Order: sequence, then structure tokens, then C-alpha cells
Amino acid sequence: MNNIVAIVGRPNVGKSTFFNRLIQRRDAIVDSVSGVTRDRNYGKSEWNGKQFSVIDTGGYIVGSDDVFEGEIRRQVQLAIDEADAIIFVVDVEEGITPMDMEVANLLRKVEKPVLLAVNKVDNAMRVADAVEFYSLGLGEYFTIAGMSGSGTGELLDKLVEVLPELPEAEEEENPLPRFTVVGRPNAGKSSFINALIGEDRFVVTDIAGTTRDAIDTTYNRFGFEFKLVDTAGIRRKAKVKEDLEFYSVMRSVRAIEHADVCILMIDATRGFESQDQNIFWLAQKNRKGVVILVNKWDLIEKDTMTAKQYEAKIRKEIEPFTDVPILFVSALTKQRLLKALEAAVEVFENRKQRIPTSKFNEMMLPIIEHTPPPAIKGKYIKIKYCMQLPTATPQFVFFANLPQYVKEPYKRFIENKLRENYNFSGVPIDIYFRQK
Ligand code: GDP
Ligand code: GDP
Repeated sequence: MNNIVAIVGRPNVGKSTFFNRLIQRRDAIVDSVSGVTRDRNYGKSEWNGKQFSVIDTGGYIVGSDDVFEGEIRRQVQLAIDEADAIIFVVDVEEGITPMDMEVANLLRKVEKPVLLAVNKVDNAMRVADAVEFYSLGLGEYFTIAGMSGSGTGELLDKLVEVLPELPEAEEEENPLPRFTVVGRPNAGKSSFINALIGEDRFVVTDIAGTTRDAIDTTYNRFGFEFKLVDTAGIRRKAKVKEDLEFYSVMRSVRAIEHADVCILMIDATRGFESQDQNIFWLAQKNRKGVVILVNKWDLIEKDTMTAKQYEAKIRKEIEPFTDVPILFVSALTKQRLLKALEAAVEVFENRKQRIPTSKFNEMMLPIIEHTPPPAIKGKYIKIKYCMQLPTATPQFVFFANLPQYVKEPYKRFIENKLRENYNFSGVPIDIYFRQK
């Protein structure tokens, strides 16, 4: 279980520069395969052996100079509600602005750890300039330069020291698989779960922001027991404009990190939009299983091609990770809801499967022999052996004489072959090439 750290502050103080510095190193290791970088606002970081997730709230504000103050206030409030710790970034070049004071007012009342980072302290002279930030009333501050990284070590030392200890989810004995229903407000998540559970114990209304906290329901179907996790209720503090992109991402992060399979609900009448893409990307980034449900299908006028066309459009949006079940459902008419669950169970099984090493070599080596990696600078790359690693999510390693010469297109080729020959539908996989 990860702590969530939110970076807040007004535009141009250097939040994204600092954010990139935080997630850089780890991303280079983790994002070995697809290299999808659609969303630069969320990532994982590690310091002194402690892992945490980072969200750059500023990345969700479009436009820079004339942002509504209200927007920033809402984002700070949301960060306060949802994050475990907050890094408030200010800019020594500009000094204290009225907006900084407003943010500080909000943060002073917070009981979670708040670290004040005075950024752009590029030289010793500016260290002195930073003193004025004491007047924000947030106590001790850290002088940093996000650009060079100077000072960030001290800040991170403090951060990991003050992050709360979270209960280890793994300590549970035989935890049930968690299927988490995610999606934009009003996509139909509560309706879907209500329809499955078959009792109206949740209030579903037309007004966004009326349901309760996220709820786990233990569910038994197909001789298979699992937890169905509803995230609809986490919009309860509806001070926030419901369609804010940041809003749904922030609220989804924790739920997604704990899921085994994310059931992403989209509203057929609205299509697959950037919020959906963000949530999809979060699931992929966390190596979770994914099933996409196009809900409210009852509202769509159909001729025979509509579902196919609709599906093709979604697959285009989720490239390159397109090997994902997409189902057209209606929570209202209960159309294909059990099929949807079956798909989630299948994805769960796919994600868990282990391919015996000998069988895996028998399958992959002839393919590789037939289409070896292209020679580079006259050097031939030989892959001798491969195996699935004993990891929680599917990872495969291919041992080669010159692994560093294997390029992205060949990795993709291998991934495609793997997906052709084994069922990894809905499951992100990692492929590594290593020295044998
Ligand atoms: P954000 O809007 O808060 O995310 O700010 P950005 O990260 O986009 O940075 C805004 C500007 O400040 C950019 O031009 C950065 O290059 C610059 N900047 C960021 N960090 C530093 C720093 O440590 N020193 C200096 N001098 N400039 C910085
Ligand atoms: P949530 O915010 O994702 O939990 O969405 P809700 O379950 O609260 O649904 C939002 C609205 O969409 C409610 O008015 C539901 O009645 C309606 N709705 C949900 N699923 C369907 C569906 O399959 N068809 C139609 N026509 N309406 C639906």
C-alpha cells in the first residue's frame, strides 16, 4: 500500500519540474515496455527504500497565467482530502503572492504533513531571500532547486520520515481478488453494482455527489469469490466541480492501486474521453487488469455496425495496450452484466497465470529463431532462453548475448507474439532483455 503525496502550488512555481525529478529514476526502470507517457501528472517514487505515489496537481490546470483562483483552491482542498502528505511549492523569484497566502491558509489547518518547498533557490544569495516564506505560518521550509535537484534530498528525507505508516494489504491471509469499478461520475458505477447485488441498498439518483463512501462487497459467482469495490461514493465531498479531470484521477488513484482488476465504466452517450483515458492509463501504469464496460448501451440507437465501430474507436484511444475486453452493457436493463463479471474473472485468471519455463521456450524460441532481432552495427543478437518471472504481474525475461541492442519494435513484436499464443487479454505485461 502506497502513500499518496500531492504537489500543490500556483502555476509556474516549478511543480512539474520537481515532479519529473521525483519520478524520473523509477520510471526508467518500471516503464520498460510500452513507454506510454500520456499523462505526466502521476507517478511512483522511492526514497530511502520507501515507495510513494506522487500527484502533480498543477498538471491538471490548463492555461497558466489567468487560472481561476477558485480552481486552485478546489484542487488544494481535494489534495488535502485525499493525499497522505502535501508538498506546497512556492517560488523565491516571485516571492509571496496573495495566492500563496490563500493556499497557506488552507494548509495551516490541515492535520496531515505539509512540507513547504521554496523553489528556484539556485544559489546562496537566494537562500537568504527565502526567509520571507516563514511568514506563511507553515514553519520550517526547504530551499530547493527543482531544476538542478539541489536541496531536494533534505526535503525527501523529511517527507519519508513524516509519511504515515499504512497497513500492509499483503498481510491479510488469502485476500480475495479485488475488482474495482472505476470511471467518471455518472457513468453508472453504482447502478452496475446495485444491479449485480440485486438490492437497492445504495441510493442512486440523477444528482452527482449523493452516494456514500467506497464500499467493498464480497460477491460469489461462478464458484468464485471476490470483492467488488465501488468507487462511486468517493465523490461525496462534492465541493468539486464533478468533471474536473484531476478530481477523478485523484479519487481513483488509491482504489486502482489496491485493485486486481479495474472495471472501467464509460458512459456510452459520452464516449471515451480524456478522463477515461487517464483512469485507463493509471490502471495500466499500476499493472492492473482492465475490463472496459460501455454502459448505458440501451440509450444508443443501433444498427448492426455501431458496437463494432464504437469498439474500434476505443481501441484507437488505448493504443498500444489494446488487448483489453470491451463489453457493451446496460446497468439499467441488466444487459450483459454477468458477461462483464465473467470477463473480469477471466482477466484476473490471465493476470495470475504462470507459464512453465520449458513450454514457454518451446513456444517462443522457434518464433525468435524465425524472426530474430535485427543485427545492429554488424552484431547479431542471439536469444537463447526465456522465462516468466515469479512476480505478481506477468513479467518475462529473455536472455541474450547483447540485450542492450534489442530495440522497442522488437519488444513489441515479442509482446504481440506472446499475446497471440497465450491469453493475456486485459493484462499489462512487462518484457525484459537481459545478459545471459
Ligand atoms: P509549474 O507550473 O508549477 O508546474 O512550473 P514548471 O515546472 O512548469 O516551471 C515553471 C518555470 O520555472 C519553468 O520555466 C522552469 O524551467 C522554471 N523552474 C523550475 N524549477 C526551477 C529552478 O529550480 N530554478 C529556476 N531558476 N527555474 C526553475
Ligand atoms: P455513478 O456516479 O458512476 O455511480 O453513476 P450512477 O450509477 O449513479 O448512475 C448515474 C445515472 O445514470 C443515474 O441516473 C442512473 O440511473 C443512470 N444510469 C446508470 N446506468 C444506466 C444504464 O445502463 N442506462 C441508462 N439509461 N441509465 C443508466
